[in-house]
Amino acid sequence: MKIAIEGCAHGELETIYDTIKLLEDKEGIKVDLLIICGDFQACRNEEDLHCMAVPQKYYNMQSFYKYYNGEKEAPVLTVFIGGNHEASNYLQELPYGGWVAPNIYYMGYAGVVNIAGIRIAGISGIYKGHDYLKGRYEKSPYSNETKRSVYHIRNLDTFRLKQLSQPIDIFVSHDWPSDIWNYGNMKQLLKFKPYFKDDMESKKLGSKPCQDLLMQLQPKYYFAAHLHCKFAALVKHDDGKKVTKFLALDKCLPKRRFLQITDIPHDPTLKIRLEYDLEWLAILFSTNHLISIREALNYLPGSTSKERWQFTPNEEEKEIVLKKFLNLEVPENFEKTADGYQPDNSNRGHVRQPSPRTNPQTTL
Ligand code: 5GP
Ligand code: MN
Repeated sequence: MKIAIEGCAHGELETIYDTIKLLEDKEGIKVDLLIICGDFQACRNEEDLHCMAVPQKYYNMQSFYKYYNGEKEAPVLTVFIGGNHEASNYLQELPYGGWVAPNIYYMGYAGVVNIAGIRIAGISGIYKGHDYLKGRYEKSPYSNETKRSVYHIRNLDTFRLKQLSQPIDIFVSHDWPSDIWNYGNMKQLLKFKPYFKDDMESKKLGSKPCQDLLMQLQPKYYFAAHLHCKFAALVKHDDGKKVTKFLALDKCLPKRRFLQITDIPHDPTLKIRLEYDLEWLAILFSTNHLISIREALNYLPGSTSKERWQFTPNEEEKEIVLKKFLNLEVPENFEKTADGYQPDNSNRGHVRQPSPRTNPQTTL
């Protein structure tokens, strides 16, 4: 299955799809799935723009609203996680994930989905220690503080992901996992981004919870964004018995390495469509009582195997979940929940004309 990976989208959906089309024509291929690693900016209208944590100069409507309004249709199934620039009010409507526009699926704060036998897990947001233990207390309209804390990852999401016992093919986060630079060409990385050195040494760079997830889940592929450069790494687990191919990509700008197409084996007897993950649904069910919407700190058990098994769903719980969902096919039930932007009704957010980028690569 041909999967296109995008680093940070920054609302440039039209450009990304045009770029994929350009590559498809050039290489004579068809892309089956697009995965976007955050800073997606699903702004439906001007109100959503103001829920994003960005300086005023970035209050551009970009092109997501065209897909939301139905003016354009996403040409390829698109799955994304959130980063630190998001229409957080809109994403908060879908904490467990869902369609933000036809054919464009948000994975939620954390989520696992299957596409033709490929199991994809992801976590939205970035790590900031001071908010990690808090409940999900933010509500729009946001204050300057909650506009930022709303996209900080929480321990419940990593805790839930750590309950997964079956193998993961692809893991996606916006942040890089801490220490990942030790598994790739660090010299070249520092040549390109010399100012990372201090933050690497003081352990400020990257996400420790994502590093724990990488090491525990040992996915075959790990994709990330946020640090605005391309970086590949190979992590060998358990003396090389399992490996993770890591790839971070840049943001969608001219002359930047923001998109990559890769071929990942899928089950050809299955249709390329979204399916819920039974184990994940059962984990959501068995940990539902741990949800907090208070700002107070929320302590969860650690990651030792003994504690883990207390929260791993049993067969009875899986059965309950399966009955609820009948089958695991994700329904195409996108519904608009707010008016979409109409360019002539407004003089604030302006729309820039997109053009395809010509520099992405097609090998991993
Ligand atoms: P964003 O698009 O999310 O606003 O910006 C991310 C930018 O911040 C990138 O240029 C990235 O390199 C930089 N950045 C993010 N986290 C860190 C960090 O921990 N240390 C340093 N030095 N730069 C960071
Ligand atoms: Mn970012």
